[in-house]
Order: sequence, then structure tokens, then C-alpha cells
Amino acid sequence: TERVRAAATLRDREVRLRGIMNTVVEAIITMDQDGVIVSANKAAEAMFALRQRDLVGAPITRLLPACGADLEAKGGFGGDFIARYLTSGWAHSGEGRRREDQGLRSDGTVFPMEIAVAELRDGSQRLFTGLFRDTTEENRIRESLRQARDELEHRVEERTLELTQEVAERRRAEDELRLAGLVIDHLNEGVAITDSNCLVRSINAAWTRISGYTVTDLEGKRPPSEEFIKADPSLYERMWSDIRRTGRWDGEYWTERKDGTRYAERLSVAAITDADGNVTQHALVISDVTKRKEDEERIRFQANYDSLTKLPNRSLFLDRLGQNLAHMGRQGRNLALMFIDLDGFKLVNDTLGHDMGDELLKEASERLLSCIRNGDTVARLGGDEFTVIMPNLEDPRNAPIVAQRVLDSLSQAFVLGGHEVFVSGSIGITIFPDDANDASELIKNADAAMYRAKEQGKANYQFFTSDMNAEVKERLVLKNNLSKALARDEFELYYQPKLDLMTGRIRSAEALMRWQNPELGNVSPARFIPILEETGGVVEVGAWAIETACRRHKAWLDEGLPPVRIAVNLSARQLRDLSFVDRVREVLEETGTPPSGLEIEITESMLMSDAERAVRTLGKLSDMGIKIAMDDFGTGYSSLSYLKKFPIDTIKIDRSFVSDIATDPDDAEIIRTIITMGRTLNRSIVAEGVETQDQLDLLRAYDCDEIQGYFFSRPLPWDKATDFLKSQMI
Ligand code: C2E
Ligand code: CA
Ligand code: CA
Repeated sequence: TERVRAAATLRDREVRLRGIMNTVVEAIITMDQDGVIVSANKAAEAMFALRQRDLVGAPITRLLPACGADLEAKGGFGGDFIARYLTSGWAHSGEGRRREDQGLRSDGTVFPMEIAVAELRDGSQRLFTGLFRDTTEENRIRESLRQARDELEHRVEERTLELTQEVAERRRAEDELRLAGLVIDHLNEGVAITDSNCLVRSINAAWTRISGYTVTDLEGKRPPSEEFIKADPSLYERMWSDIRRTGRWDGEYWTERKDGTRYAERLSVAAITDADGNVTQHALVISDVTKRKEDEERIRFQANYDSLTKLPNRSLFLDRLGQNLAHMGRQGRNLALMFIDLDGFKLVNDTLGHDMGDELLKEASERLLSCIRNGDTVARLGGDEFTVIMPNLEDPRNAPIVAQRVLDSLSQAFVLGGHEVFVSGSIGITIFPDDANDASELIKNADAAMYRAKEQGKANYQFFTSDMNAEVKERLVLKNNLSKALARDEFELYYQPKLDLMTGRIRSAEALMRWQNPELGNVSPARFIPILEETGGVVEVGAWAIETACRRHKAWLDEGLPPVRIAVNLSARQLRDLSFVDRVREVLEETGTPPSGLEIEITESMLMSDAERAVRTLGKLSDMGIKIAMDDFGTGYSSLSYLKKFPIDTIKIDRSFVSDIATDPDDAEIIRTIITMGRTLNRSIVAEGVETQDQLDLLRAYDCDEIQGYFFSRPLPWDKATDFLKSQMI
């Protein structure tokens, strides 16, 4: 009974258990240690799509493909393979031992599942009961959850990044703005922001510094400089058209500060637009460019104008001449070009000083300006040379009218520092297009005509004539050849002996320069000395003359001739040369010439330029024992004070007085006076240019010391002069 009851209870329990097992959703499969399925519940049937009878007795590997593959790899069942397979790779979670695996349905589909296995021992038999759970759905949900989370995380991440970037961006922008503000505040340029109507909204400190206006002065108003820009309508017009067209403008103009002082301003305008391209603001940047503009204007002025007279200088003159010629050429009209040289200016400069000379030039410029018409140009070419461009000449015959007006105006007395001074003008005129077509030709013409006017005795005007061209060319040729003449040994000294009227002997001779050029032949010193003076070459050539004269004097002495002093002509330039005295001393020593063998001939005008230095220089020469003669006496100031002030030993009466001495009582009287005066001052007197016996007789009667001239001897080359001396010694 007991056993039966126990068996019944057992059966009962088994049934209940089976019932329970069959109602649970999870598949429950029990297998032996070889993997043969012993029992399976309803859920297992559903999960694997197999019926109970197919399941029981089947190997578990049929349901677990991974297990099957493993098994195959191992080469069949063996030991407790199944037990090990099922119990390996378990994840130890709180709920017991689980593993992930894949299940195989009878229809061949594979699905994910979770397996939890418990081992039961039934005596020596080992049984395994597995709980199989299809995790397809769970996985799907978990996956989508994971995806959702990932996505969320991603979005959060992205947004965070966006936000941090935004913040960084904003901060940077803020920094930039702050920095820009700081920079603007500290700029040297004035900055103003206006609204779209150009009414000022803000300005920086520099704006106030430059213009004097403060924010309160300007807020809501247009910048005051606008009125000054308006003063130049074309500039104003350009500014607005540029701003409208390109949104930008740069310009410079003169304007005023708040306190009314003038300054040059540079303005840069930039229109600021919104996203739609509408102008919302203007940024104005100003700087004070007064200094630079003044410099520029000064430089422009200096480059184009003469600083003394404020007249156009040579370069602007050339510009204007070019422009006028082009213009006149197109219109088929005449133009006159006039060169004006002031006669006697040098004398004023030399006697009254450079300041007075400057005054004279200024006054002369004003007078020239008063003689011309509107549209004519007066320019100063340098020194005392001026030029007038007269375009639109109706008739070339009108040019002399202007020239005469200039002459008249210049001949009026100039009052300089209380002195009344008189100068005159020598004017050369050339006409375009009759005389020449281009500027450089016209300039040459006017210059040549002016030279002619000077030659004609000054204070007159001369029209250019074609023969003048030749003269200009010749001068140029002379100049070129002269520069090489010394090196080519083309100079020679001739000697003109002087006759001592008391003893009838020769005590001295004048050395006169001769230039023999293979191309030009004999050139007179009257022609080439002025050019040498102009180029400065006279210093070298003059030194050569002194040295040569000294050698010749020594040679005469060595030949046993009595001492014949050689007089050498000097140029103003040589006298101004600081090393002149030393050079002379050296030459005397080198050549072994006694100082008494040398005489220096100077003219009065040479003494005027720098009287102080001339006194010193001549004093030193005189102290050395060199004689000094005043040449061409009577043609200059013939001033007694010069004779007293300078150590002059000899006075040479100019030959212009000598030539008429026999016929002109005035000249005779002048010569007599000069001789008397010279006697009184204890100077010896030489008369130049004596050509006749009559002249000689008169001079002897007047008690003249020596005579020099063709009558006694022409200037002679070295050998002839030597012969002449020897013949006179007998
Ligand atoms: P100058 O010093 O007045 O020289 C006198 C000039 O008168 C010389 O002309 C001479 O040849 C000329 N002559 C002499 N006797 C007579 C005469 O009876 N009748 C006429 N009609 N003329 C006479 P040259 O040689 O042509 O010299 C001209 C000028 O050149 C000189 O005038 C002098 O100022 C300058 N010169 C000559 N040689 C030199 C020199 O070595 N250095 C410098 N700086 N100037 C010189
Ligand atoms: Ca002389
Ligand atoms: Ca002379």
C-alpha cells in the first residue's frame, strides 16, 4: 500500500511537473551524457519546429549546429564531449551558468539563443537539462535599443561638439571684436562709423586728435570735411561715384580742424553692407598727411621752380615749351622763344655781394613778369639767364615789342641796399615754326641769338639767323677739343717782348697762349680762354702756362741772356684756387726760377669777386718777390683804391686808349692822367698795343716806362723770341 501510494504520488508529481514543464515558455530539453535527447517540452517543440517523438532520441547536435561542427572536427563522440561543450564558455551571471549559442530549426533557419544547463546525476548516469531561450526578439530589441542609444549618444556628442564650437566661435568673435575695438582705440588713424545716411555714430580717440572734433560735436552729423571736399567739385563727384560703384574711396584734400587750422587729410571710405547688400554703415578712416603733402609740394616746387625767384626752372620750362609747341603745332600758330641774359650782373654780384645779387635777380624776375601777357611763361634757366615762351603769337613782328619792353624795364635803376645799380639785357629771339620745329633746336637758336646780342654790345635784342647755328656748333667743337688739348700737348706759349723806353732794352715779355689744333688750326685765346674759364679747365691750363714760362725764363738765363721777366696772364678761377700760391712756389723751386723772373697779370674784375682772398693771395705772391701787373687798365673801374689796396707793381694801359692816342685828344688825356697817377703811386706803366711810331713817340713824351705792341714785336714762338732777344742784346 505504502509503495503503491508512493508510486501514485510520484506519478502525480511527474504529471504535474510535466504539466508545468509544458506550460513554461522556455524550451526545456534533457539529454544524456552522449547528447541524446531524453525529453523535451512543448516549448522545445515550438522552438525547433519538431515534434516530441522526433526530438526524443535525436542527438542534441541536430539542434545545435555549432556543437555539431565542433563534434565533426573532433572526429565523433567521445567521453563527455557533450557535457564539456554544454558547460564550457558559460557566462557566470547571477542567474547561474549561461551561454550564447545558435539554434537550428527543422526548416533550416538559424536563430540566436541562450542556454542554461544543469547537470543531474542518476546513479552512474549523468543527465543534462538545458533551458533554451530564443533570443532573436530580445537581441533585436537589444540591438535596436543599442542603436537608439548609440544614435542618441552620437547626437548628443554631435550637439555637444556643435555647442562647444559655437561657444568657441562666439568667444573668438567676441575676442576679435574686443581686440578690434582695442586696436581702433589705439590707432593713429582716426576711425568713424556712420549710419547709412552718413551721420556719425562713433569715432575713436585719434579722430579727435586729428580733427579736434569730439563725439559730442559729431554724433548724428555728417563729417565736417565733406564741405572741404565739396570745394573741389570734381573730387567730390568722383568720391560719391566711386563709393556708389565700388563701395570704396581713397583721397586726399586740404581741410580744417575744429579750431580752424588747415591740414591735409587722407580719407578712406568703405561702405559696410548687410547680407542683402544694402549699405548699413560707412567706415571712415582719416590720417593727417600734412607733413607728407607739404614735403611733396615742396619737392614738386623745388623740382619745378627756382627757389630764389619762384619762377619755373629749367625742367618746368622744358615741359612748358614742349606742351606749347605741341599745341601751337596743332593750331598752326607761331611761338616766340626769348633768351635773356643780364649784362653787368656779375659785376653787381662781385661788388655788392651775393645778397644784393639775389635781390637784383628777384626784382628782375618781377619786371620780366610785368612785361608779358597771360599765357606766356617766364622761367629762370640759372644764373642771370631767363627765358620767355610766348605762344599764340599773332605776328612774329610782335616779338620785338615785348623784347623792347623787357629792355626798357631792365634798364631802369635797381635800388639795392641804398645803391642805385644799372644793368641791361641781351636778348635772343627765335620763332617757331619758322626757325625750327623742335624744342632743342629752338633753344639752341635762342641761345645763339643771345650770344650775338652780347657781341653786338649788349642791351639789345637779336633775332636768330641761320648763320648763328654755325657759331653754336663751333663753340661746341671748341669745347670738346679743348678738353683734350692739354693732354695732347696742343698749347704753346708765345712771347711778346716789351721795350723799356728809358734804356731801349728788353726787361720783360708777356707770355700769350696759343692753341694749335690739327682740326681747328690756330685758335685765338680770346675765343678759347673764356670757354676754359667756363669749364674750369683754365686752372690746369693756367698752371701749365706758369710752369712753362718759368722753364723758359730759366732757359734764357742758362743761355747767358740778361734776366727777362715773363708775365703770365691769370684767370679769376686760378686766383680763387686755394692751392695756387703753393703751386707757384713749388714750380719756382722745381724749375730753379728766381721769383723776380715771374710776373702775374690780373684784371680789375678779378679782384672784385672775393677781394679779401685776392688781397691775401696777391700779398703772398708779392712777398715772395713775384711782380703783379694790372692788365687792361682803363676799361674797368680804373679805381685808385684798387691800386692802393692791392700790391700792384705795374699798370698796363689798355690798347683801346693807345690806338687812338694820336688822333683822339680825350684818349691822349686819359693816358697822360693814368701815367701821372701811376708815377705818383710809384707804379711802373706799360702801354699795350703800340702799333706805330707816332704812338711810341707820344708815349715816350708822356714818360711811359715800357711799351708792348706789334710795332716793336709781335708775340713770337719760343725760338724766334730767343733769337729776337739775342739780336737786341747786341
Ligand atoms: P691781353 O692780356 O690783353 O693780351 C694782349 C693781347 O693783345 C694779345 O692777344 C696780343 O697778341 C695782342 N697784341 C699785342 N700787341 C698788339 C698790337 O700792337 N695790336 C693789337 N691789335 N693787338 C696786340 P692774344 O694773344 O690774342 O690774347 C688775347 C687775350 O687772351 C689776352 O689779352 C689775355 O687776356 C688772354 N690770354 C692770352 N694768354 C693767356 C693765358 O695764358 N692765360 C689767360 N688767363 N689768359 C690769356
Ligand atoms: Ca695781358
Ligand atoms: Ca691787356
